[in-house]
Amino acid sequence: MKKLTFSGGIHPAGNKEATEKKPLVALTPPQLLYYPLSQHIGAPLKPVVAVGDAVAIGQKIADTDAFMSAPLHASVSGRVKDIGNYVNHTNTPVPTIVIENDGLDTWAEPIHTKNPDEMTPDEMRKIIREAGIVGLGGAAFPTHVKLSPPADKKITHLIVNAAECEPYLTSDRRVMLEMTDDIIGGLRYLMRMLSLNECYVGVEDNAPEAICALMEKADDSMHILELKKKYPQGSEKQLINAITGKEVPMGALPMDVGCIVINIGTVAEVYHALAKGIPLYQRVVTVSGDAVMEPKNLLVRLGTPFSCLTEECGGFKKEPHKIIMGGPMMGIAGVSLDIPVVKGTSGLLVFSEKASHMPTESMCIRCGRCVNACPMHLMPTTLDLYSRLGDLETLQKYNIMNCMECGSCTYVCPAKRYLVQSIRMGKAKINARKAKEKAKEANK
Ligand code: SF4
Ligand code: SF4
Repeated sequence: MKKLTFSGGIHPAGNKEATEKKPLVALTPPQLLYYPLSQHIGAPLKPVVAVGDAVAIGQKIADTDAFMSAPLHASVSGRVKDIGNYVNHTNTPVPTIVIENDGLDTWAEPIHTKNPDEMTPDEMRKIIREAGIVGLGGAAFPTHVKLSPPADKKITHLIVNAAECEPYLTSDRRVMLEMTDDIIGGLRYLMRMLSLNECYVGVEDNAPEAICALMEKADDSMHILELKKKYPQGSEKQLINAITGKEVPMGALPMDVGCIVINIGTVAEVYHALAKGIPLYQRVVTVSGDAVMEPKNLLVRLGTPFSCLTEECGGFKKEPHKIIMGGPMMGIAGVSLDIPVVKGTSGLLVFSEKASHMPTESMCIRCGRCVNACPMHLMPTTLDLYSRLGDLETLQKYNIMNCMECGSCTYVCPAKRYLVQSIRMGKAKINARKAKEKAKEANK
């Protein structure tokens, strides 16, 4: 089989050995679970329950009228104990529903009882929204929105992202091995919804057992493709390029070149919602890092604090120094193990001081390695310079907003420059300026 790839990128150590062969372990839900009302891209939610209300698993607890959002469901049965501000995965206190688990695991009615084979594509989209499904790869973009392209965008390719190119993470791999039938069922529904006769699933070549598992169950309409292991193969534009050869222009979206990209775990959730009426209430999380006693892949109810995950992994063998939510390249540093698992939590990594040591940066030696590594064809060294100078006009001229913050430039830099951090700062300044201008305009 020909291995597909894209230009640019890097080859960091995979570090997946600690968990790649570990089957999923269902984590017993704790006594208190925390559901932040802001946990995905789009409008924040409003509670549809009050303190003291009884709730069951799969019962909707928060929603909004906004299209660009997705409702939230209880992941245990019990009672609403509090609605207040608690720190979420962005390290910010946000309105949160707290549920006290009664330990009975009583289920609510399914979100629908229809036969999915008799549903129209629009009915299927409505159920996907009702199930609260968002992209499980980390971006947490509402899935029904992604599956609703405007009429003038003709979709020709459904691409499934199973690359899992971030080091340490093996949650998608376990989903491919342990929920294979659900993925195949989800692919059938998605193809029907988008009126497509084929779909493409991209898996990196470091997961041969997952490729075999999918190939064994896939029919002729499902192309299981082997991708060269390279970071960031799992980013949408690089995946589209590797699979179709198409380039998504700067500032454009996958649907502008006829593609919809969806994460493999999300496909399984689409199946659960359509075939069984089960909303998104749990997800797979890889727990790893050199400080963790026994790294594992856990099946975790949404709302479970990180401390319960590390306890299930036997605690720490080294003093924990740095917590990362997601992968080490694009994940976010966390301030506390009290933060709960949300829909976008693909991994929880905990590192010792030695493993998380930041090297001291020195002057750029103009070697050009960052430019060669950038998968978005940007000039990281130039962006770094103007970002530090605060020259926002020049940064925009050099397309800073196209940086996807993959960290490839920082990884290869021999001068150890904090390139992605500096570029992130430049982007934040531009966004802040735009927000200020918008507010000024609105107040006129
Ligand atoms: S972080 Fe941005 S500039 Fe650096 S390699 Fe990735 S896309 Fe390019
Ligand atoms: S890789 Fe580092 S040293 Fe080389 S050009 Fe880029 S910023 Fe400069």
